[in-house]
Amino acid sequence: MYKLKCLKCGREVSPLSTGSTCPDCREPLFLDVSLDELATREGIRSLVPEELKRVTLGEGRTPLVEQGRFLLKLEFLNPTGSFKDRGAALTISRALMAGWKTVIEDSSGNAGIATAAYSARAGIKAKIYAPADAPQGKLRLIRAFGAKLETVKTRDEAHRAALEDRSGVYVGHVVEPFFIEGMKDIALELVHSGKKFEAIVVPVASGTMFLGLYKGFEELTKLGLVSEVPTLIPVEACGYAKLTQYLRTVSLACDEGGKSLLADALRLTIVPRLHQIAERARKVSPYVVVVGDDSIGEAIKELYSMGLPVEPSSAAVYAAAKYVAKDLSGRVVVPLTGNGLKYVPTPNELLDKYLFGGP
Ligand SMILES: [Zn+2]
Repeated sequence: MYKLKCLKCGREVSPLSTGSTCPDCREPLFLDVSLDELATREGIRSLVPEELKRVTLGEGRTPLVEQGRFLLKLEFLNPTGSFKDRGAALTISRALMAGWKTVIEDSSGNAGIATAAYSARAGIKAKIYAPADAPQGKLRLIRAFGAKLETVKTRDEAHRAALEDRSGVYVGHVVEPFFIEGMKDIALELVHSGKKFEAIVVPVASGTMFLGLYKGFEELTKLGLVSEVPTLIPVEACGYAKLTQYLRTVSLACDEGGKSLLADALRLTIVPRLHQIAERARKVSPYVVVVGDDSIGEAIKELYSMGLPVEPSSAAVYAAAKYVAKDLSGRVVVPLTGNGLKYVPTPNELLDKYLFGGP
């Protein structure tokens, strides 16, 4: 059986017991995967052992599209329209293995939708805490998948309320180790594409993609498929930046001093794994890019002009990539994380200003 491991004190815990943090030192845990068993005669198909995936909706293996110097990873084409499906598939698989009947998640929207959908698929009840001002399209999708939706005032409040709820098992992606496992195959897919790149820009709210990519590339290094973890450049939203205390900071359109209203998926300030992200970022991240609404708005307009229906938080990543490309000579990987179809059918005064030039 695979073990959850505390990288701080070495304590090992069964994944079938509840909880995602070390019983001794409260450090969020990671899954310890035996790499020897992953390689088959056909090569490596996944960095996740097959027996750990008990529920799937066909997530992953998303297209990688070339756009000038950029390699766009179309993560918004996952089953429920975001990269969170990769993590939810593994999280709900853990719930199935452990026999949990009700799971509890807190989310700005996308992770809640993914958890709701995979829970529905697995026949497990889901309860999702989300901020009331999340995009209506996202909140409605959570309910449409049959999950119980609890709205509170802010994203941070959603996290606190979910932790206090004792009516099920808390599987919040902000700490859940299996959620991070689900992200690792993005690294493998990039390597399998055979395309060379110099850096990957990575949106960071709770940091699951950053930690998953890092762990994935670390394992690929151990397997001899890559020589090192590549340059990962974290992207945060104005008013919600946490990594700026650890890394050199590049700000794009943050000068109004306000908080981003458009990047709803990046509005998290309580980040249980922040020190783990910072520790890794210090090794592979030259700086963090913090993006404001004017840059996001320009970037989303440009992405739609290329035929790519993404959500505003993904446009923040593209805006950052354009800055990063000026600093580098090679190609830059841009994960486009969330689908804009959750937004555009609903009139949105602020977003419409950028997309249509007015409400
Ligand atoms: Zn520990």
